[in-house]
Amino acid sequence: MARAVTDPRELMRRLELPDSAVDRMANLDFPLRVPESFIARMEPGNPRDPLLLQVLPHYQETRLVPGYHQDPVGDQASMAVPGVIHKYRGRVLLIAAASCALHCRYCFRRHFPYAEANPKSEQWRGALDYIAGDSTVNEVILSGGDPLLLADSRLSMLIGRLEAIPHLRRVRIHTRLPVVLPSRVNKTLLRWLGKGRLQVVMVIHTNHPNELDETVHVALQKIATAGVTLLNQSVLLKGVNDRVETLNELSEILFSAGVLPYYLHLLDKVQGAAHFEVSEERALSLVEVMRNSLSGYLVPRLVRERQGAPAKQPISGMLRRTDEIRLDI
Ligand SMILES: *Cc1c(COP(=O)(O)O)cnc(C)c1O
Ligand code: SF4
Repeated sequence: MARAVTDPRELMRRLELPDSAVDRMANLDFPLRVPESFIARMEPGNPRDPLLLQVLPHYQETRLVPGYHQDPVGDQASMAVPGVIHKYRGRVLLIAAASCALHCRYCFRRHFPYAEANPKSEQWRGALDYIAGDSTVNEVILSGGDPLLLADSRLSMLIGRLEAIPHLRRVRIHTRLPVVLPSRVNKTLLRWLGKGRLQVVMVIHTNHPNELDETVHVALQKIATAGVTLLNQSVLLKGVNDRVETLNELSEILFSAGVLPYYLHLLDKVQGAAHFEVSEERALSLVEVMRNSLSGYLVPRLVRERQGAPAKQPISGMLRRTDEIRLDI
């Protein structure tokens, strides 16, 4: 983490790209951040590398596009107590950490006021009291930021407190770290992960098969061996993964590492991310072709988050004949 690259010019040097590939107009309110281990999976000399495009600031982020907002999914309106977002029945999301190891340019929480929602230890008490007081909640989702950025001692203490709440059955960890920084999956983590009363589900976030190299594979297998159910969510991103071969390959590689594809999200309309948008129609066509070429369990659910809805909203269209679908792939 300490060696993560934050200077775009430095990143260009690593990738043997000219300085001119850096956008001087880019707004650095949400700066570049990318660890060495992720850079190692980028292709030198390729300015369109799908991993690079996910992290390199671009001037298009400064455009104000109608329909794109600072809080696109209404997280702030659903904050029950500081750090707890309660939108859906049965599960709550706890903002357990205020930062990420890598800054995704399309991040739906890029404008999130972590300072107000940051559950420092004192605030965990408020969050835990809230969860303990609502017996309809049976699953707690640790999110952020990236919860695996917490020290093992803090994380295992938090989960220990959750285990004492009798109506909880599961804890879910939403994290990009096993992919971005596989060395995080170390002995200390594996000593406590999956050993307690609560079933553990880990939802990782990968968008492109190039993110999953051998080191990630090994890390994921260790997590699976600890008895953790592994799922993946991706965001459909123009220029990064909006091709059938890419998505199929991602599903295949994930499964070979013990991870089931879970969600394929349409982009949350967050200010600064409009240039990544893939239309709903194209998204549907892509998933339809996936469905016709993969085992059913390798096809992720195409969803969009709609503010005020009781769940992630499935995107479905009229069934069309595959041979009518033109994808320009
Ligand atoms: C996405 C999300 C969840 C989890 O939804 P699932 O469909 O169970 O994966 C829970 N809480 C919030 C606030 C969410 O945004
Ligand atoms: S891992 Fe998730 S929360 Fe973190 S920067 Fe990426 S999209 Fe945002």
